[in-house]
Amino acid sequence: MCDFQKILESIKEKAEKTSEKGKVPTYIPELAKVDKNHFGIYLNMLEGNDYCVGDWDIKFSIQSISKVLSLAMAFNCLGANKILKRMDVEPSGNPFNYLSLLELEEGIPRNPFINSGAIVIADILISELKNPKEEFLQFVRDLANDQTIDFNYEVAASEAKTGYTNFAAANLLKSFNNLENDVDEVLDFYFHQCSIEMNCKQLSNAFYLFANKGKCLNNKTYLTSSQVKRINAIMLTCGFYDEAGEFAFEVGLPGKSGVGGGIVALLPGTFIITCWSPGLNPKGNSKLGMLALESFTTQSNLSIF
Ligand code: GLN
Repeated sequence: MCDFQKILESIKEKAEKTSEKGKVPTYIPELAKVDKNHFGIYLNMLEGNDYCVGDWDIKFSIQSISKVLSLAMAFNCLGANKILKRMDVEPSGNPFNYLSLLELEEGIPRNPFINSGAIVIADILISELKNPKEEFLQFVRDLANDQTIDFNYEVAASEAKTGYTNFAAANLLKSFNNLENDVDEVLDFYFHQCSIEMNCKQLSNAFYLFANKGKCLNNKTYLTSSQVKRINAIMLTCGFYDEAGEFAFEVGLPGKSGVGGGIVALLPGTFIITCWSPGLNPKGNSKLGMLALESFTTQSNLSIF
């Protein structure tokens, strides 16, 4: 039996000693203010025990990790077929904000985790829901079984001010008739979903259903086993943009990163792990988070492979 606490402690110790901690993103001014010395991990084992180290209880901006939750809500409201008419599920091999005219030739984003794909999911939710932002936030709170989770309005406003690439992506999608709603309305939803703040524990809890066949912490079933299989497959192949191959190779788990420095990954039926370290590598994924999760699956010998 593995001593999980010992493994997490050794990973934290190594991370603290590392001088190269990556760079916080400056293109969202509010995120540039975060101290990159933070480091935390929360491990949630399905059989009951939880383990944690460092700053696991400090909230951070989940950013692109929210794309998994918005996709889950869209699957929950609509089922997969309608969604798959408006996007593919192929890895892009490109950065998260890449604007490929070729890929968008017919206005069809490569997958739901690059920005253009997540913007289409935001559009789908706006068309489906009466009060989109409120209902999405409630969905996330219910998944995590925690009613204190909230948007960070400063982060959302900060991104809206400087989100030129996302405006370009949304306008391109609109020009190809792959947005039903107004660009401003869709991006307002998207910037708010990205601004949600959670700590490592809340994030691990919110992802519980992806490790537990669609049933979340409060025992409610939101997704079918088949939908969970599909979402985990998209995380494995597309969760880290042009570093998805590297993450599968080094870590061997489905997972998702965000430019807030969070990474959540899971082994179906066994555990969910969240690491937060705000400094990013050149691909926009948490530098120490990638190394920490590689070390965790190597030391524990637990991965999907
Ligand atoms: N809100 C960020 C953006 O759209 C999310 C990017 C990310 O976390 N990779 O640029």
